[in-house]
Amino acid sequence: MPSVFEVCVLLDRHFPPETAEDWDSVGLICGDPSATVKRILFALDPTIEVIHEAIDVQADLVITHHPLFLTGVHGVARNTLGGRVVHEAISHGIALFNVHTNADHANPGVSDALAAALGLVECAPMQPADTPFTGAGRIGRLPKTQTLAQFAQHVADSLLKTAGGIRVAGDPNKKIDMVAVCGGSGDFLLPIAASLADVYVTSDLKHHRALDHPRDQCALIDAPHVATEWPWVPVAAALVQSELGTAVSTLVSTVRTDPWTGHHVSTSE
Ligand SMILES: [Zn+2]
Repeated sequence: MPSVFEVCVLLDRHFPPETAEDWDSVGLICGDPSATVKRILFALDPTIEVIHEAIDVQADLVITHHPLFLTGVHGVARNTLGGRVVHEAISHGIALFNVHTNADHANPGVSDALAAALGLVECAPMQPADTPFTGAGRIGRLPKTQTLAQFAQHVADSLLKTAGGIRVAGDPNKKIDMVAVCGGSGDFLLPIAASLADVYVTSDLKHHRALDHPRDQCALIDAPHVATEWPWVPVAAALVQSELGTAVSTLVSTVRTDPWTGHHVSTSE
């Protein structure tokens, strides 16, 4: 059975930490590198609910996309959100590791998984990096032309079911062939999407950025953050499982960490 350190090395090979953004936090958050790993739980967010799930399924390593601490902290007292996660994990012998923007830039990465979930073909990075076939966002083609309305329903049906669903900006009859995607907050790729794609699927789009975007040229689909990144979680689990074989078992979290739980449309005029 591999050690925590050996699994970290494997993850660093597929998701090199040096490809993470400067502002990011990636790597081993807590845990003993020399401890043995038998079961790995993959999740999007290192919430206390995910740690409790790891305890229930007897996982000794939790791998998440989002970091626990994005900015420096003075302490990890148990009566803080992050501190409670650290205490629960350590007291149950659970190591915690995350791959964030290094997974966004990798291939297969977060946006590859999103593109695959939407059935895109002939995909390439929207913003290529120095390393061949890595970089931010993906642009791909639909196998068959759809209207924006048809494609939007396809997106809603293909992604994780959320209370918020998806939001669409553009003419519902617009013909869609080329699709740009970016898992997570993708507003930084709006100008590239405008020049390459018929529609851009991402999340966390702000009012002014969407308003200033040429939506007749490139429509927008704003999906919940978790929905655009979730397709990567089982892909990462399968990747690690295929590398480690039967020495470990990998599990995908069943905890839904989308903070939004309701959606209402006004009934008044
Ligand atoms: Zn994210």
